Amino acid sequence: MTTTTSSLTTRIVIGMVSGILLGFLLQQLMPNGSDFTIPLGFFEISVRGLFVDGIFEVGGQIFVASLKMLVVPLVFVSLICGTCSLKDTSKLGRIGGKAIGLYLITTAIAISFAMSMAMLLSPGEGVNMTSNSTFVAKEAPSLAQVLIQMFPSNPFAAFAQGNMLQVIIFALLFGIAIALSGQPGERIAALFEDLNVVIMRLVTILMNLAPYGVFCLLASLFTDLDIATIKNLGMYFGVVFVALIVHATVTYPVILKLLTGLNPVIFIKKMRDAVLFAFSTASSNATIPVTMETATKKIGVNNSIASFTVPLGATINMDGTAIMQGVATVFIAQVFNVDLSISDFLMVILTATLASIGTAGVPGVGLIMLAMVLEQVGLPVEGIAMIIGVDRLLDMTRTAVNVTGDCMVTTVVAKSENQLNKDIFEDEDAGKKIEEIDFHHLNENK
Ligand code: ASP
Repeated sequence: MTTTTSSLTTRIVIGMVSGILLGFLLQQLMPNGSDFTIPLGFFEISVRGLFVDGIFEVGGQIFVASLKMLVVPLVFVSLICGTCSLKDTSKLGRIGGKAIGLYLITTAIAISFAMSMAMLLSPGEGVNMTSNSTFVAKEAPSLAQVLIQMFPSNPFAAFAQGNMLQVIIFALLFGIAIALSGQPGERIAALFEDLNVVIMRLVTILMNLAPYGVFCLLASLFTDLDIATIKNLGMYFGVVFVALIVHATVTYPVILKLLTGLNPVIFIKKMRDAVLFAFSTASSNATIPVTMETATKKIGVNNSIASFTVPLGATINMDGTAIMQGVATVFIAQVFNVDLSISDFLMVILTATLASIGTAGVPGVGLIMLAMVLEQVGLPVEGIAMIIGVDRLLDMTRTAVNVTGDCMVTTVVAKSENQLNKDIFEDEDAGKKIEEIDFHHLNENK
C-alpha cells in the first residue's frame, strides 16, 4: 500500500470529518451522556460502552500517546544534531534571541488584537450567568523561577517528565560538548545523525496511521460535545474563533511576507498536516514530531534551526492561547461589570505573554494560565467556570494557531540565517516522497 502526501492529508481529513459526523450522530442517539443499546439475540450491545468509551477512546488515546512517545527522543536527538552542525556556537545565541523575540512579539500582537476585538464586539454584554463550579488560580511563576527551572538538575527526570525547556537546555549543552570533542565527538555525532533518521521514520509511520487516530479522537469528542453551552456562549465563542482565524490567515501571512518576502499562500498550504494534527490532539507538544517534519521536509528549514525553534515554540509560543485569554478577560470583565483601565490592558498583555513561557503545550493549559492573568487584574477567577464548557473546541482551534505560529517564526529565523532551502519551499510536492511507506515490504522503503 503506497500513499502520497496529498492522499495522506486527504485521508486524515476524511478521518476527521467522518469522526465528527459520527460523533454528532451518536450525540443524537445518546443525548446527555445516555446510552443506546442494540439487542443481539440473548444479549445487548452498549454503543457507548463498546464504541465511545471503548474503541474510540482507546484508539484515540493510543494515537496521542504514540505521538507523545516520540517527542522527547525526537527533540533530544534532532537538537543535538542541529547543535553539532552549527559549527559556530555563537550562532546559537543569535538564533535563540531572534526566535524568543519573535515569539514574544507575535504573542503580544495576538493578545492586543484579541482584546481590541472583544472590546469592540462586547461578547459579555447582556450575558447573565451564574456558575456553581469554582476554579482556583495557580500562582504565576516569577521570571527568576522560570529561568532557574530551565536547568535540569537531573536530565533523566527531565526526560521522564517531558519537561521540554530542560530537555532543550541539556541537548544544547550536550551538542556543544560533542562539537568540541574532536574525533570522539564526530563518532557520537554520526550516531545521533543515524538515530535522527530512524526517529523521523517513526514519525512518518505514525502519520500514516493518523487517519484512524483522528477518527477515534473526534468521534469520541463530538459524541459528548456540549452544543447547548456553545450556543449559549455563542458570542464569546464566535469572537475567539474569528480572532484565531484572522490571526492565522492575516497576521501571520503579513509578518511572513514582510520579514522574508516568501509567498504566504505556499506556507499556509504546507501547514495542512500539522494543523490537522494540532486540531485533533489539542496539544502543541504532541504535534512536535509533525511540526518538525513540516518545517524541515516541506518548508525547507534546515534542521539546525528547526530542531531548536520548533520545540521551543511548542513550549513558549502560544498565540492562539493568548487570543483566547484576551477575549476571555474582556468577556469576564463585561459579565462582572468591571471596567478595564489602560494599565489593566497592559498588565493583561504582559502577564499573558510571560505566563505562556514555561507552560507546556498540552490540552487545556490555556485556562490555567488565564487564571493567573485574571488574578493580576483583580477579576474573579470563577469567571473561568463559565467558559470551561466551550473550551475544548476552542482549545483545538487555538492549538492549530499556536503550531502555525511556531512554524512561521521558524521560517523567518531560518530565512534570516540563510538556512531555508527555497527550492524545497517552492516545491509543492516536497516531503511527499518521504511519506510513502510500504508497510508490506519493509525492506523496500529505504
Ligand atoms: N492546547 C494548547 C496547546 O497545546 C494550549 C492551550 O491553549 O491550552 O498549544
